[in-house]
Amino acid sequence: MTTGKINVSVENIFPLIKKFLYSDHEIFLRELVSNATDATLKLKHLTNIGETAVEYGNPIIEVRIDKDDKKIYITDQGLGMTADEVEKYINQVAFSGAEEFLEKYKDSAKDSGIIGHFGLGFYSAFMVAEKVEIVTKSYKDEPAVHWVCDGSPEFTLEPADKTTRGTEIILHIAEDSLEFLEEGKIRDLLKKYNKFMPVPIKFGTHTENLPVPEDAPTDYQPEEVEVDTIINNPNPAWTKQPADLTEADYSDFYHELYPTQYDEPLFNIHLNVDYPFNLTGILYFPKMSSELQIQKDKIQLYQNQVYVTDNVEGIVPEFLTMLRGVIDSPDIPLNVSRSYLQADGAVKKISNYITRKVADKLKSLFSENREDFEQKWNDIKIVLEYGMLSEPKFYEKAGAFVLYPTVDDKYYTLEELKEALAPNQTDKDGRLVVLYASNKEAQHGYISAAKDKGYEVVLLDSPIVSHLIQKLESDNDKLTFVRVDSDNVNKLINKDEEAISKLSDEEKDKLKTAIEAVVPATGYTVQLEAMDSNSAPFMITQPEFMRRMKEMSQTSGGGGMFGMNNFPD
Ligand code: ADP
Ligand code: MG
Repeated sequence: MTTGKINVSVENIFPLIKKFLYSDHEIFLRELVSNATDATLKLKHLTNIGETAVEYGNPIIEVRIDKDDKKIYITDQGLGMTADEVEKYINQVAFSGAEEFLEKYKDSAKDSGIIGHFGLGFYSAFMVAEKVEIVTKSYKDEPAVHWVCDGSPEFTLEPADKTTRGTEIILHIAEDSLEFLEEGKIRDLLKKYNKFMPVPIKFGTHTENLPVPEDAPTDYQPEEVEVDTIINNPNPAWTKQPADLTEADYSDFYHELYPTQYDEPLFNIHLNVDYPFNLTGILYFPKMSSELQIQKDKIQLYQNQVYVTDNVEGIVPEFLTMLRGVIDSPDIPLNVSRSYLQADGAVKKISNYITRKVADKLKSLFSENREDFEQKWNDIKIVLEYGMLSEPKFYEKAGAFVLYPTVDDKYYTLEELKEALAPNQTDKDGRLVVLYASNKEAQHGYISAAKDKGYEVVLLDSPIVSHLIQKLESDNDKLTFVRVDSDNVNKLINKDEEAISKLSDEEKDKLKTAIEAVVPATGYTVQLEAMDSNSAPFMITQPEFMRRMKEMSQTSGGGGMFGMNNFPD
């Protein structure tokens, strides 16, 4: 056996990083602002624990473009680096100073919000820059240094005359990346990735009017001043305690997150857990119709307040991907480029936690204000019904808040419905018969016929209902669902009284022949018996099971509303 050391030559690794490590060139800015943020948070931590006596103050990060010189500056007032630290952290590719810091300060730093992880983020600068400079001065009493590298493995390191604490990164933008010198482009990127990062980020300035003095004359001209434009909100609602937030705060945050959404959300769920994993966030139930909405405003995933992606597949159970809001977790395992989720047991735990939290919240909303919950039912039922079908954990809890409205707008839980049906709607096998309608207008005649008999008719009109009732029947052997226009309605329900028709036998025969001539030959039944309702002299019906099978084959497979291909069959 021979053992040896693989020789990684840096000549080879730079082009690799540049080309393949990050699929998206634009994330260079996210990485550099993250490093600036880390440097600031580290200093904050060191002052907090009394390890340094320097004044922390109110540090900000500045991003600045010099279009003429084709440069971008990212400047922070964080802890800076000494010459030795530049050697250690910058010149060693894949050595993460962030990891080292978290390791060193362990418990005290675990909530510090430090972002870095892989020790590769800095080099993403070379995706857009042909040359990178670092000018940095440590908070320790050591001279400032200047590092320059043009993307080859050679760098220079020399003393600099910077007198203020912190680091300035200067990117010399390459010819193929000149788009990043556009102010609008950089503003968009900052808004996308850094909108809720914890240290204020300045990008340009704007003018504001000074407040008008109280004794100002009527023709007073307000005085204009130039102020920094801060691009981010360093304290977004999800990082606060639920007790410190009002409903108005939640609503404001919703609109901050989705500036083009004018609808108010129906309700929100504040997520907050630190064991066995760390996760915070706020989910919003938007108003939803039963139609699939092409949704541009999705749940956003953050890691320590840095935007990662709005593809939360796997982290949020599928039935909740219609919700909006944010999830922030340092524990979600993402790959180096942070855009892909790595398969991991923790992810399943997170998904289960979210399911449970949502179910608990629905339960408390229901018990705290049932009337309000009933009013919202139509807007949320599609998500909840789909959740019952796709997540066993959700199904278990759904009994406490899932509703079955009648055609007369009474709302029953399943248990209440069973109670209501018990005296009057059982079949010969002792099963409860849930009569339901799927379309109030189209089935109007059948509905009133059933109501005339004193039956309750439930309105189940979402497109996945046939799957849902199949599931409810298989879990409740004393329950059977029958649509009002099924031919077994009258036979099913065990009633003593004789069916009385107003027609003679001869009249019935004639009518039946006439009707059967125009309805499809198979699968339908013409019923003249038992029609004691004034609203319908006869009924054309189809057996429940035939229709249901057909509906189920239409809504499963082929994508359906939610891409419903994981239905239990
Ligand atoms: P990571 O952030 O994952 O640790 P990076 O490649 O992004 O890795 O950065 C490497 C290291 O360089 C950081 O961990 C940090 O020690 C140092 N560094 C980078 N940018 C700065 C900065 N603006 N101020 C101070 N140190 C920095
Ligand atoms: Mg980094």
